[in-house]
Amino acid sequence: MLSGRTQILGIFGDPVEHSLSPVMQNAALKEAGIDAVYVPFHVVPEQLPAAVASLRSLQIRGVNATIPHKETICSLLDDLDEDAALIGAVNTVVNQDGRLIGYNTDGAGLVASLKADLDFDPVQKSVLVLGAGGAARAAIVSLLRQGCRHVTIANRTPERARQLVYTFQDKFKGTTLAVAGVTSAELTTAVAACDLVLNTTSIGLQGEAFSDFPWGAVSSKSCFYDMVYRRGGTPFVARAKESGARAVNGLGMLAAQGELAFELWTGQPPPSGVMKCRLLAEVADI
Ligand code: NAP
Repeated sequence: MLSGRTQILGIFGDPVEHSLSPVMQNAALKEAGIDAVYVPFHVVPEQLPAAVASLRSLQIRGVNATIPHKETICSLLDDLDEDAALIGAVNTVVNQDGRLIGYNTDGAGLVASLKADLDFDPVQKSVLVLGAGGAARAAIVSLLRQGCRHVTIANRTPERARQLVYTFQDKFKGTTLAVAGVTSAELTTAVAACDLVLNTTSIGLQGEAFSDFPWGAVSSKSCFYDMVYRRGGTPFVARAKESGARAVNGLGMLAAQGELAFELWTGQPPPSGVMKCRLLAEVADI
């Protein structure tokens, strides 16, 4: 029941109607007995500055930012948390008495899901990251902060992968970063040697398979994590399982990044497991 005291939370995206965040956040707010509502806001890129300004004028407590706003929103905020600044992307904004602070909970959400869903601890591990966009940057920063030993990045546009190595190598001493071409012998070597293969590309969103991936090099000891999730599962996860590896999709990461955002807005952790349960119910056969 809405009242004069109900706080507003939400998500800015274009498109936004597909987002599962409203159902999971509202389920958690209700279960926690918090007088707040989480609303999807369809914000087109040219309206983003006005939408961000409205957070102050309407005293909206906070929002998530999703495609295509995660990077452009950074320059519209008053301050960025250290990791959000390093990543160059924000997925969570907190309105602290009119000051808008940007955070990125995607990477920490990934790490939480790796632990919960694959029992994978990044310390001293070697990770192959497919993709070099915003999700890859968030993942790499969190994996390196957690003590990951080596990261290889393979991206369709190699220059973007090289840029990430250049950006992060100096910031994380004691870790090595490398680039592998998506159809190269180095990729086969990296697949065989790594502990985790992480898909941060959007391949699979429409059910499309990874062409040219060296599945023959997969070790049964490797873990596969697909940030993509979709009803019916993703071809990447299915193929990794066929190769004998343990593999999960990104539903756990979606829930975990939302849990961290919830805590930033409300000052308390959400009721345990509610968001993940709600997501599983929403995409029952994922
Ligand atoms: P982004 O910044 O646009 O980056 C997209 C990446 O995918 C780039 O590396 C791009 O390569 C690559 N790519 C796209 N289409 C490709 C194709 N046909 N073949 C090869 N590579 C292709 O997007 P993002 O924000 O990083 O998001 C990436 C994915 O992660 C999305 O599917 C998103 O839904 C998912 N995600 C999931 C969660 C979660 O909670 N589970 C959180 C964040 C993101 P180029 O550089 O060559 O263009």
